[in-house]
Amino acid sequence: MTDTQREAMEYDVVIVGAGPAGLSAAIRLKQLNADCNVVVLEKGSEVGAHILSGAVLDPSGLNALIPDWKAKGAPLNVPVKDDNFYMLGEAGQLRIPNWPMPPLMNNHGNYIVSMGNVCRWMAEQAEELGVEIFPGMSCSELVYGENGEVKGVVAGEFGKNPDGTQGDSYEPGMELHGKYVFLSEGVRGSLSKQIIEKYSLSDGHEPQKYGLGMKEIWEIDPDKHKEGSVTHTMGWPLGSNAGGGSFIYHLENNQVYVGFVVHLNYKNPHLFPYMEFQRFKHHPMVADLLEGGKRVAYGARAISEGGYQSMPKMVAPGVALLGCSVGMVNVPRIKGNHNAMLSGMAAAEAASAAISAERSGDELNDYETAVREGAIGRDLKKVRNVKPLWSKSGLTASLTLGGFDMWTNTLGFSLLGTMGHGKTDAEATEEAAKHQPIDYPKPDGKLSFDRLTNVAFSFTNHEESQPAHLTLKDASVPVEINLPKYAGPSARYCPAGVYEFVEEAGKDTRFVINFQNCVHCKTCDIKDPAQNIVWTTPQGGDGPNYPNM
Ligand SMILES: Cc1cc2nc3c(=O)[nH]c(=O)nc-3n(C[C@H](O)[C@H](O)[C@H](O)COP(=O)(O)OP(=O)(O)OC[C@H]3O[C@@H](n4cnc5c(N)ncnc54)[C@H](O)[C@@H]3O)c2cc1C
Repeated sequence: MTDTQREAMEYDVVIVGAGPAGLSAAIRLKQLNADCNVVVLEKGSEVGAHILSGAVLDPSGLNALIPDWKAKGAPLNVPVKDDNFYMLGEAGQLRIPNWPMPPLMNNHGNYIVSMGNVCRWMAEQAEELGVEIFPGMSCSELVYGENGEVKGVVAGEFGKNPDGTQGDSYEPGMELHGKYVFLSEGVRGSLSKQIIEKYSLSDGHEPQKYGLGMKEIWEIDPDKHKEGSVTHTMGWPLGSNAGGGSFIYHLENNQVYVGFVVHLNYKNPHLFPYMEFQRFKHHPMVADLLEGGKRVAYGARAISEGGYQSMPKMVAPGVALLGCSVGMVNVPRIKGNHNAMLSGMAAAEAASAAISAERSGDELNDYETAVREGAIGRDLKKVRNVKPLWSKSGLTASLTLGGFDMWTNTLGFSLLGTMGHGKTDAEATEEAAKHQPIDYPKPDGKLSFDRLTNVAFSFTNHEESQPAHLTLKDASVPVEINLPKYAGPSARYCPAGVYEFVEEAGKDTRFVINFQNCVHCKTCDIKDPAQNIVWTTPQGGDGPNYPNM
């Protein structure tokens, strides 16, 4: 707790983050008990402003939560009609037929959606049930009770000066107390990270792994648009430099989601994930689709990739971690929204039962059991070896051995057991001297764009007169260690151009943090080789303002 005096409000359950996990938890709590007092706090200026997924939605989570979602007008308007998978070379592509793929890879029955719009609709459903939702409220601190249990959060602190002191318009915010606190902050949640460390929740589990996902929305020539079409690619331009691949989803209104994921365990610090994405759009197959169209939005977000073996313990006294704050993405399917929703429901069910039994502030162990032994655990367990095979042996092994392992797992067994991930993504980075710099073509301004131009299309805004929310544990590390040893990788791994090494004649090199550009993807917190960058929440309402991402 801080020394600042704040008013407190009491709830049954306090939920941090209005993504699919947090909103599902809120809705389920109210379905189970209309008198349950539930509050949802969201740092985005509105619900959906910070939501970034592909997204092909497996509706199993929504079916369980709101079975009559169609009648209630949920924005699931585009069923997947065709599913294509290509291996790219620089000048051509090879279509991989669908028949050898395990059934779990099939996208029929799924929908191409804007998850931002799905979350906006879910927030309406929650509010109709009586949930209080406060957007523009960053939860910046945890509040602990007398017995060390998590008792609440601090939200809505505004008006600090750049040096951290209180400015003229300083607002201390409020403490929101709950019998239980749910952290549904998504991948690499800043409060979730503190809880995982404080209670050693990762002990006995593999380290979490991540990718960086970047995405643009394009409006394309109607003659080229195929509503409901889903395409995934692998191979070029990443080759053996990094794992990852692309997605191209045709939604409604002649719009296409064009996205690219780079696994963050790449070794070569010269790699520039954003420029790999830009280069990808010049592949003849992709260029042909996009030529004559225009990019209308851009965003980026880390994606959790560790899967089954990386899920930390999810509960500690008074608190539960939900959705991608745990890491529930099925990597070969690139899907986590259904599991986020199911985890929200499971946490709500455990908390509702506990509150009915007049418990509070303890561990919701039934939630953890429901996740590990229920639908989420079964979904993730079948694909648990795909990511480690890819990291250790490359794309071909992951496609062949990983495909074989997914098949045997579908039949109920695995010859590989459960493989480990080994190093964290930060530890995977090798010294620059061991690798060749990579020469990236200059963006042409038609298909490819420089970073800052694209960041303008994320509609990101940060009040400049506040402390930088990207903090350094040791201010000397970027220039004295990361620059000579790793060629200053933050200048490349950040998809928003936040970090710069500024060299001026006769002066020492300066490390500049342009925090105003930050799109809240959390890559810096994950990939910094020295683990010296700590992502904290800026004041509420700041960050990207994604339209229909
Ligand atoms: C590029 C990309 C493509 C993807 N494609 C797909 C796909 O096609 N299908 C699929 O199913 N999944 C996909 N995923 C995965 C999916 O996005 C996640 O599994 C899902 O978003 C997890 O939901 P969540 O509710 O846990 O977290 P999120 O959706 O990340 O929501 C967290 C919310 O909490 C808020 N928040 C965070 N911290 C705080 C704080 N301290 N205070 C207040 N608010 C806070 C955030 O602003 C955000 O609104 C993709 C992910 C990426 C990055």
